[in-house]
Amino acid sequence: MRSGNLGYPRIGNNRQWKKALEAFWAGKLDEETFHAELKAIRLGNLKAQQERGIEIIPVGDFTYYDHILDTAAMFGIIPERFYYEGGEPSLSVYYAIARGNREATASEMTKWFNTNYHYIVPELGQSEPQLTRNRLLDAYREAKSELGIEGRPVLVGLYTFLKLSKGYSPDQLDAWIDRLLPLYSQVLRELEAEGVQWVQVDEPILATTLGEEDLAHVARIYDYLASAAPGIKLQLQTYFEAVDHYEAVVSLPVHGIGLDFVHDGGRNLQSLHQHGFPEDKVLGAGVIDGRGIWKADLQSKLDVLKTIAEAVHPDRIVVQPSNSLLHVPVSAAQETALEPALRGALAFADEKLEEIVLLTKAAQGGAVAVAAELAASKLSREALQQSESRNRTLVHQRIAGLASQPSSRPSNSNVRRDVQQKRWNLPLLPTTTIGSFPQTPEVRSARLKWRKGEWSEAQYETFIKEQIKIWIDVQSELGLDVFVHGEFERTDMVEFFGEKLDGFAFTANGWVQSYGSRCVKPPIIYGDVEFTSPMTVAETVYAQSLTQAPVKGMLTGPITILNWSFVRDDKSREEVAYQIALALRDEVEALEAAGIGMIQVDEPAMREGLPLKREQWAGYLEWAVRAFKLSTSTVKDETQIHTHMCYCEFHDMIDSIRALDADVISIETSRSHGELVGSFEEHTYDKGIGLGVYDIHSPRLPSVEEMGSMIDRALRVLSPEQFWINPDCGLKTRKYDETVAALRNMVQATERARKKY
Ligand code: GLN
Ligand code: ZN
Repeated sequence: MRSGNLGYPRIGNNRQWKKALEAFWAGKLDEETFHAELKAIRLGNLKAQQERGIEIIPVGDFTYYDHILDTAAMFGIIPERFYYEGGEPSLSVYYAIARGNREATASEMTKWFNTNYHYIVPELGQSEPQLTRNRLLDAYREAKSELGIEGRPVLVGLYTFLKLSKGYSPDQLDAWIDRLLPLYSQVLRELEAEGVQWVQVDEPILATTLGEEDLAHVARIYDYLASAAPGIKLQLQTYFEAVDHYEAVVSLPVHGIGLDFVHDGGRNLQSLHQHGFPEDKVLGAGVIDGRGIWKADLQSKLDVLKTIAEAVHPDRIVVQPSNSLLHVPVSAAQETALEPALRGALAFADEKLEEIVLLTKAAQGGAVAVAAELAASKLSREALQQSESRNRTLVHQRIAGLASQPSSRPSNSNVRRDVQQKRWNLPLLPTTTIGSFPQTPEVRSARLKWRKGEWSEAQYETFIKEQIKIWIDVQSELGLDVFVHGEFERTDMVEFFGEKLDGFAFTANGWVQSYGSRCVKPPIIYGDVEFTSPMTVAETVYAQSLTQAPVKGMLTGPITILNWSFVRDDKSREEVAYQIALALRDEVEALEAAGIGMIQVDEPAMREGLPLKREQWAGYLEWAVRAFKLSTSTVKDETQIHTHMCYCEFHDMIDSIRALDADVISIETSRSHGELVGSFEEHTYDKGIGLGVYDIHSPRLPSVEEMGSMIDRALRVLSPEQFWINPDCGLKTRKYDETVAALRNMVQATERARKKY
């Protein structure tokens, strides 16, 4: 067996990459220095793999922004609005596509399969594709000449590339394949001429649900490419799920197939056993989790490899991560501030590479030679398992008794609506906001001072109260109907709760790329999640004390907390979601007991957790809804539960959204209003609902008329008795003046609408 990798994080162990990009954009780095800095990071990344003894090292996975954008740029696929003149796009064109410029808006960005990485969506049909520059050849040569690495170039597969692109209709797919095949061939031929042996071709689309037609396209593509550069061996790489059409995929005319043995629900291994594996192919065995951050149970990984070796000759097995390590932080070595049991159990990219090398040695028969390392790894995992954080008796008892926990409200939504209306006596088309008000530089610097200890707890608290007071006054002056406190005490809607609940940890440097230069540092859910003391009651109650209007309590829901964190791997995500849900229930009850009568539990990330395969959606949605309801079902009829979601594809989740049984839901909509409103023509919804009437992502001031027409459109399919008026999402990224002006227009639009309906 040999060791291999599929991709390494670009960002550097200190986010040097991000800093270089941003300095360049700001004009603080000239182009030459910028190239030099990126080269240093790129070579450092290669060295990290080389020094750890990885035999198959990917090259060309590094990027100046995003690997899908790189692929489009390599093929000269550039939107017309950037005045592209053919040939290799300049850096300014490249970054304009990603970020927009004064003349043209950026290309759309969207989620890379079921990860939190976002790629730039290629826009086909605007320029004639051509090979502008074979970036894989550059990467291969550089690794070889600078570090003596015989790298394996990584190419985004043609079918995945096309399926992720837009700008063509389904009947043009064939023509696009024809157009791109010669370009892909050319890339391969040039690599062949250079003496490259293997190329990794990433086709994650093969792990999604495909039809017969897709398979026919894929077969045609690989038949063509096989003869285009016969001296090159293609390693066709799939990841993120099992391959449904296993037999068809493994019999494609390539020299190797990579399978994910971590995120496949055990199905790839099953297929391997059932159908065998072609004798003339190499199997890339993705046994190390490329998405989680935990040390692997190496013994069980060895068992998997042993099982695989029953079907594939060990000479033809490559031990590798399940997918590119782009999705995990760089190195756990810096996390010295973490509790030792936790720190010892972490494996980021570098540690994962070490595990791969170790496994390869052990599988090669050197189990004795690496016995000490295997034992040490086992001990670290056990230490965390036995730590107090994973053995919180009360949490375990609550989970054991889950079946008897209330997970729906005692009365139905009609009964609740009447009781609530009596309590609040809200006008027709009540106005509200989604929770946060501007996080001004002042707010941020106050928090920083407090974190650094320059400000005392009391000082910070006073400051937060002042902010709340300012915005309660603003909301009264504007005449909104339902107020919020403004979330000034929160940097991030997940981090805030993670810091207050037991079971979470925060790394110093556990960054992963989210899109472009933007990195996120997800919290780690490593222990049992437990409520310790009220988290939001003080601020909410203070806000409520300043006004007669109802102030909504504001919580982040269990599924969003789960989906935006790294999650322990010894329990199912479902069980972890229930733990969070029960902890949040305690907070919901605390708010209610303190007199707060409306509580919003945000679930902007519920959709993000949807499995790649359709047939698994129902299972996920069922437990996601249950978790939400565990949090929100123990309140009295008169307490109004709100929720909020940040996306607009709604039609395929409508049953689950109904099942949440929230009294009021707000959904982002202004960026595709027609679509969302349209879905209510086909689907009924009878509870309170607010479809955002303006886009908070833009500094543009929406006019009264514009919002009025949004309201009119919505009221063609929804009744005025159920409709709420609110912006699309929280206002934390907006400025004070923008916010006040927009909300003033919103209230005016509402007043006009109230006269009409
Ligand atoms: N309550 C949060 C806010 O207003 C919701 C944010 C979100 O939906 N992403 O900021
Ligand atoms: Zn939102």
